[in-house]
Amino acid sequence: SMDFSGRTVLLTGGAGGLGIDIALAFADAGARVIALDIRDDRGADLLSRAVGTTGEVLYEHVDLSQLDALPGELDRIVSAHGPVDILINNAAIYPARPFDEYTVEDYRAVQAVNVDAHVQCMLSLAPGMRARGWGRIINVASITFYGGWDKLFPYVASKGALVGLTRAWARELGPFGITVNAIAPGAFPTDAEKIHPDPEGYARFVLEHQSLKRRGSPRDIAGTMMFLASDYSAFITGQTLNVDGGWVMK
Ligand code: NAD
Repeated sequence: SMDFSGRTVLLTGGAGGLGIDIALAFADAGARVIALDIRDDRGADLLSRAVGTTGEVLYEHVDLSQLDALPGELDRIVSAHGPVDILINNAAIYPARPFDEYTVEDYRAVQAVNVDAHVQCMLSLAPGMRARGWGRIINVASITFYGGWDKLFPYVASKGALVGLTRAWARELGPFGITVNAIAPGAFPTDAEKIHPDPEGYARFVLEHQSLKRRGSPRDIAGTMMFLASDYSAFITGQTLNVDGGWVMK
């Protein structure tokens, strides 16, 4: 059901534009949410907004780009707060520039946060889900993966990796009662949108392309996330669900 009391969610990028609403939605449904981020000011904002929810939100400053430290950080979090039932791999960086202004190091830095850190989250947390016979992993991809955007190749590649990992992990973890799905957001008015030089023109472009003629809200993502974390989606795994107001239809 949509009652997540007794469930623990680990959410990367929990202080982000989508992350805050995801965290609050799960906490409103009774979950304990552990939000990881490096933007401590927004983390504090999240904690103040979580007061009065039926569940609980905890904030942990964890820099996902520090891959060597990450296994220890995740072990510490599980020791402190108990096992994680629902892993939401949501953090991302999205530098945008023409192809000839990226280096291989820039490319690898994007993969480190968007992909490698989330591989580590899976490696650290899925064995506990297997031991308990229930788990949910939700990767946040992007409709940019379908090819409609330029100047973002490291980011688009990272989202392709997450779609591939979603399928591979779903195949291997399904026998243990763990489902793995991805959400591909369309265009949501968060910081991610500030990469566009002309925000008003971009907003018009978005509404032209969407079938639904309103801007998406982070609550739209949070609702889909809760569906994929609940038992209503218990027979769905390995899928990437576009949450984009009917922009991309594949
Ligand atoms: P956002 O930038 O507001 O949130 C991302 C969060 O990740 C930030 O709070 C940031 O501090 C955190 N983060 C970045 N690097 C980190 C690191 N090294 N360690 C820990 N945390 C780190 O963007 P958002 O729109 O909330 O994006 C959330 C997810 O949705 C991302 O995966 C993004 O690619 C995806 N997405 C967003 C849109 C959109 O329109 N907003 C569209 C498609 C996909």
